[in-house]
Amino acid sequence: MWSMLLLVSIAAVSADPKEFHGDKVFRVFPQNEEHVEIIKSIASNTQLDFWAPETVSLVTVGHRADFRAEYEVVYDIQALLEKSGMPYEIMIGNVQEAVHTQRDSNIRAVHSYVKYNDLDTINAWSANIAAQNSGLVSRSQLGTSYEGRPIYLLKVGKSGSNKKAVVLDCGFHAREWISVAFCQWFVKEAVEKYGSDTQLTNLLNNLDFYVVPVLNVDGYAYTWSTNRMWRKTRSVNSGTTCIGTDPNRNFNAGWCTVGASSRACDDTYCGSSPESERETKALANFIRNNLSSIKGYLTIHSYSQMLLFPYSYSYAVAKDHTELNTVAKNAVSQLTSLYKTKYTYGAGGTTIYLAAGGSDDWAYDAGVKYSFTFELRDTGRYGFLLPESQIQATSQETILAVRSIATHILNNA
Ligand SMILES: [Zn+2]
Repeated sequence: MWSMLLLVSIAAVSADPKEFHGDKVFRVFPQNEEHVEIIKSIASNTQLDFWAPETVSLVTVGHRADFRAEYEVVYDIQALLEKSGMPYEIMIGNVQEAVHTQRDSNIRAVHSYVKYNDLDTINAWSANIAAQNSGLVSRSQLGTSYEGRPIYLLKVGKSGSNKKAVVLDCGFHAREWISVAFCQWFVKEAVEKYGSDTQLTNLLNNLDFYVVPVLNVDGYAYTWSTNRMWRKTRSVNSGTTCIGTDPNRNFNAGWCTVGASSRACDDTYCGSSPESERETKALANFIRNNLSSIKGYLTIHSYSQMLLFPYSYSYAVAKDHTELNTVAKNAVSQLTSLYKTKYTYGAGGTTIYLAAGGSDDWAYDAGVKYSFTFELRDTGRYGFLLPESQIQATSQETILAVRSIATHILNNA
């Protein structure tokens, strides 16, 4: 009887999502090498969850770093920071509270564009929107995830021959929920405004958008069921109990040379080989198989409010740097025009830091000239826990940037 009860309670505990009571997100401003070393030593002694940059190895002098610390260590860390004289702020005082308050929509509908939707709801939505708009949207399967989930692909555009195409993907990193919300918003706007909005109608008549609403489906499902802060895929790694690979370090573009980790326990683990993950392989295969039509590649992440283009795996200047920079500048200017949201833009390596194995660099080297990574809102006030009340404004401003890039592609590719 007691053992039965025990089993039941263990099952109940493991089925509940992880909680983050008392965890804090710190923002530190290392002023010198000594400060960087202090951060590194804290990270080597306790499990810190780096939000931006994505790993402690990318922390450098003069650049802010955001990380989550668990409640058991927050006071020790704060004491160390005080003693060091390193400037810091507490961005989120209680992560569990932020996990709760991000869901600030009171909409009751199962699916809503101004809510975060779970994977089953998104899959039902994508089937439905394709069925309801068969002249404009069709759904196919891009591939199957490690855990066997379908990864869906929506083709959005009026049928026509020899159309150029743009790939738009969301949900590479599981915890970047605003990214996933954006892809749904993009499709909604296409079906709602086709025929009435001149620019959008022209784009959809002459371009196809291949939208992947959620690429890392296993990771995304896991952020809902078990751990809101999960980033990677959910594949099993040999020789360790640590799970998952960073899908945006898993492409064959300077793979695992810089800004990525070869340790499976790290959040930026590059995987056992390029395209070791079913999810990244499915996307890479799709792009390879459609290289003659695909002219643009837009991958949506969060957070930091940045628009980046190749390269990130080296400081090398891309052949099309000048044009990509102009396209980014115009896209950002469109984005900012709506709500004055400030974005920075530029080549990844010089704008943030070197990080190899990213999908944008890979797509560019494969021949997709207009290759961009978006880092959506915010700049750290909520980080990955952006409230639902910001989905609409974030999506509306981002779509202006996407329209701007797509228009350039249509006219120039
Ligand atoms: Zn990301």
